[in-house]
Amino acid sequence: MLGPPFEQSRRAARTLLALVPTGGGLPDKEWQGRHRLLTWSMITSTVALTAIGIVRNRLDAEWFVTVVLIACCTVCAYFLPPRRLPSSAVALGFTAICADLVAMSDGLTEAHFSFFIAIGALALYRDWVPFLTFLIGTVAHHAFVGSLLPGMTYDHPSAYQHPLRWAMLHGAAVLLCAATQVIAWRLTETEERRSGDDLTQAEAQFTAAFEEAPIPMTMMAPDGQLLRVNPAFTAWLGLPEVLPPGYSAADLPCRPEPADQPLMLDRLLASQVPSLREERTYRHDNGRFFHVDMHCNALRDDAGALQLVVTHFLDVTEKRAQEATLQRKIRQDALTKLLSRSAFEDDLADLIEARAGEVCVIYIDVDRFKAVNDSHGHGAGDEVLRALGGRLAGLTPDDGLLARLGGDEFAIALPGPIRRAEILGDAIVRSCDAAFQIARGPLTVTVSVGVSAAASGESAEGALHSADLAMYAAKQGGRDRIRMFDAGMRQDTQRRVVAEQSLRDALDGDRAKTLPVWFQPIVSLPARNIVGAEALIRLRRADGQLVSPADFIPIAEETGLVIPLGEHVIRTALASLQHWGNRLPYVSVNVSPRQLAEAGFVPMLTQELAISGLQDRSRLVLEITETSLLQNSLDLKERLDAIKGLGVRMALDDFGTGYSSLTWLQSVPADIVKLDRSFVAGLASDSDKAAIISAVLWLAKALGMSVIAEGVEEEEDAQMLGRADCPAAQGYLFSRPVEPQA
Ligand code: C2E
Ligand code: CA
Ligand code: CA
Repeated sequence: MLGPPFEQSRRAARTLLALVPTGGGLPDKEWQGRHRLLTWSMITSTVALTAIGIVRNRLDAEWFVTVVLIACCTVCAYFLPPRRLPSSAVALGFTAICADLVAMSDGLTEAHFSFFIAIGALALYRDWVPFLTFLIGTVAHHAFVGSLLPGMTYDHPSAYQHPLRWAMLHGAAVLLCAATQVIAWRLTETEERRSGDDLTQAEAQFTAAFEEAPIPMTMMAPDGQLLRVNPAFTAWLGLPEVLPPGYSAADLPCRPEPADQPLMLDRLLASQVPSLREERTYRHDNGRFFHVDMHCNALRDDAGALQLVVTHFLDVTEKRAQEATLQRKIRQDALTKLLSRSAFEDDLADLIEARAGEVCVIYIDVDRFKAVNDSHGHGAGDEVLRALGGRLAGLTPDDGLLARLGGDEFAIALPGPIRRAEILGDAIVRSCDAAFQIARGPLTVTVSVGVSAAASGESAEGALHSADLAMYAAKQGGRDRIRMFDAGMRQDTQRRVVAEQSLRDALDGDRAKTLPVWFQPIVSLPARNIVGAEALIRLRRADGQLVSPADFIPIAEETGLVIPLGEHVIRTALASLQHWGNRLPYVSVNVSPRQLAEAGFVPMLTQELAISGLQDRSRLVLEITETSLLQNSLDLKERLDAIKGLGVRMALDDFGTGYSSLTWLQSVPADIVKLDRSFVAGLASDSDKAAIISAVLWLAKALGMSVIAEGVEEEEDAQMLGRADCPAAQGYLFSRPVEPQA
């Protein structure tokens, strides 16, 4: 049994040992570098020692012994197996050099510095053995040589008398110097251990992140070997959990599609890029295709050589599939399953490019589709569009593209000469002769068709626009027909755009100046007294030029600008009536079909009449045309009655140009019939015209209506009208339309 004191000292020793550095721990490469450095320092120090010896003339026996010893130590340093034996040989060599330097200088104090330098140098081994070898060698040298030959060891007399004391003094100094080295050494070790711990912790964190990541990941060596893969990766490709050693990327059960793509690894090897990202398609050996968003990170050494590749694999197969579905949906019109407008424009552009202009576009628009929706409901409208889409699909050849552009508009792109498109367009118009069978029963609609040929270099948008203009011309031409595009249509559009703008500008400006109302007298026959006047609007452009209403009224109609315009004319006409008083019995104002169709027309008229304070409301005459009456709207009759109820009179304008029959006249609550210019001009020399006028005059008289003959330019015609008992006339013969003052 060992007693407590022994236990205590053992514990103290253990504590002390824990404080001293462990030694060792240098990586091989590092140790070899330091050993080479120290060996060479030993050799060069020997050369330096020899040089000192020559200078001081001291190449004596001790020098010789030292050189031989160093030679032996050098051989040992080079040929003994690492590490302790060769390092101890170097330590021994240094002891010999320091000792001989002291001897050569006859114990010069400064020569002793070499021991301290050597201790510092040997500490580089970070090993107890060479360190202790040197320490023991030094203390032994001082003890023995210092006692036996103090004159060669110390350069002062006190040391000659007490050599042992001085040996101990020097030994203690060298030991203390060693102690500071040991402390530095110990601190380095602690530091290293701590950063080692940090490294282990980082490694553990990385492993957790790598292993548990839901994204497939690999670590690959530059030769393609898979050093590490995570469970998400093996599960993704159906691999065993642990891969056999030496498993490489080439062994994976999938191939890139197409196969001849450069490997990401090769690209990383060939360049210095830190990372690569690319989407690739692969085919699994089981036949399945998949899309992967691959992200490779290259780890390189200081020289830039590739060390490791860490790759993330994001499987985007599902995402791409969803995108494709979405794309297909966008490309398809939901109602008719035909191409959508954007898809059509894309495909048309491709077709034009491929065929270098040999492509025609057919634009199809359903006539009065709004009426179908309004009278049969939107469901029926949809059915018609679907049925029409089907009919168009049946007519479109295989090399044509058919699309629904939106609303009731369809388009076909057809390669080949324009004649081919014209034939197809005709067939489409004719195909609508047959009724569409919808849930509510058969329903007939007509279509207007425009055809254009894409000029080479023209954009898809441009070709489509040209066909649209041709279609518009077909509508203007009376609907249910086909029109081929010509460049004039574009000019028409241009003109319309300009006209619309100047009309808007005029309405925004001082209307008395920009939109003056002129008057054309209406005279009695045969006396030729002024009995009334027709108010005729003019447009004065910014440049002062007057524009005829024939040029802007149709645009005002189309755009709805006729509503504020009409209001302005009525207001001006009423003001003029008040102004002229008894001097002018009545003023007639033109009212266009669009104005009449507007629900706000009667309230507006009521209000204007009230504001004007006009006593005799029959002094205002509204001229309406047959076209507005033909628009078979149910409440038009009510509206005309309401107007009549206000006390104003009504005139049927341009009578004889429409479809009107004489019997039809009686169903209109008009007070005046205005015979169109085409019946009046050349009346004197045309007996047919004279007969018609007689008939109209007779019927009007029977219905209690008055008659005004329009467009009288010739004296003979005026006289003829007088003889036929026509009560009134209007025309350039009597006066052109003039400004109110005139
Ligand atoms: P309209 O109602 O038939 O008006 C008569 C047109 O015939 C006027 O043309 C007039 O200048 C012209 N005219 C009169 N006598 C003769 C003649 O002896 N020979 C010939 N060749 N022409 C004659 P204007 O002023 O250019 O008006 C054209 C059309 O514009 C009018 O035809 C009318 O439909 C429309 N319009 C004019 N002012 C207005 C208006 O304030 N509101 C609406 N809604 N339409 C208007
Ligand atoms: Ca008129
Ligand atoms: Ca007229």
